[in-house]
Amino acid sequence: MIGMANIPTLSLNDGKEIPQLGFGVFLVEPEETARIVSDALETGYRHIDTATAYGNEKQVGEAIASSGLARDDLFVTTKLWNDMQERPREALEKSLDLLGLDHVDLYLIHWPAPERDVYLPAWEALIGLREEGLATSIGVCNFLPGHLERIIEETKVVPAVNQIELHPQFQQAESVAFANAHDIRIEAWGPLGQGKYPLFEAEPVAAAAAAHGKSPAQAVLRWHLQHGNIIFPKTNHRQRMEENLDVFDFELTDAEMAAIDAMDRGEDGRVGTHPLDGNW
Ligand code: NAD
Repeated sequence: MIGMANIPTLSLNDGKEIPQLGFGVFLVEPEETARIVSDALETGYRHIDTATAYGNEKQVGEAIASSGLARDDLFVTTKLWNDMQERPREALEKSLDLLGLDHVDLYLIHWPAPERDVYLPAWEALIGLREEGLATSIGVCNFLPGHLERIIEETKVVPAVNQIELHPQFQQAESVAFANAHDIRIEAWGPLGQGKYPLFEAEPVAAAAAAHGKSPAQAVLRWHLQHGNIIFPKTNHRQRMEENLDVFDFELTDAEMAAIDAMDRGEDGRVGTHPLDGNW
């Protein structure tokens, strides 16, 4: 059945709404992307998170075009790659062409790439692209509080979201506090830890899952949702797409939330690239 999942939306600081749960396509092979995104849309996902760097915008666009869904019922995010930070308009126009869309719902700077030191002019350009309607909302990924302070100070425009690595063993207290103080939504990438550590076997996760008759993955996704994080777990498998959507009929208790909170390992919990190192 199409569109059966009842996915809540959150409001952004620009007044727009975003589905709190979506589908991410990092490391989805281009040859498989159209089928996988079609499966996701059929399963009920309405929010797709892609990026120029993922090399699959064209195939995401094919799935959207063949879905028959109304544009207004979809939320599509893509991202500006580092090597185009000096030419955001050209980059977004290319992305829109590949996606077959006249606007994206959210356009993000993918990394601050501080060694390039052009994220501030890139942000200024994104503000213009939003004013023109090519992107409905704009934000950033992997920005540290210092990067955010700089662009906010210089432009007075606060990103709608900061998309950062965040999962139970890496909870990013400082970035979350900064986001909360500035009305920036956190999008948690790698919400399941990218499968890089034994998250599902961890006692607090396994116990919460068992208590609610849910899978460990569902318990972790629920933990994110109850913290207010926007998430878009990635899977190639339809059964897991359905599983990852089926997280709105239970609630973790305060004690279960606290037990998963206690899994935080600070900086040692990071499994991806440090923002200062993402200068490709
Ligand atoms: P993720 O935490 O979503 O993990 C994906 C892996 O989890 C899959 O390969 C699969 O093996 C496993 N998985 C998914 N559902 C499962 C289930 N129900 N049960 C068991 N295992 C399951 O990691 P991700 O894909 O890296 O992150 C999600 C999305 O975040 C990406 O697809 C992408 O859109 C975005 N992202 C953004 C950045 C950035 O720099 N902005 C970086 C990485 C990812």
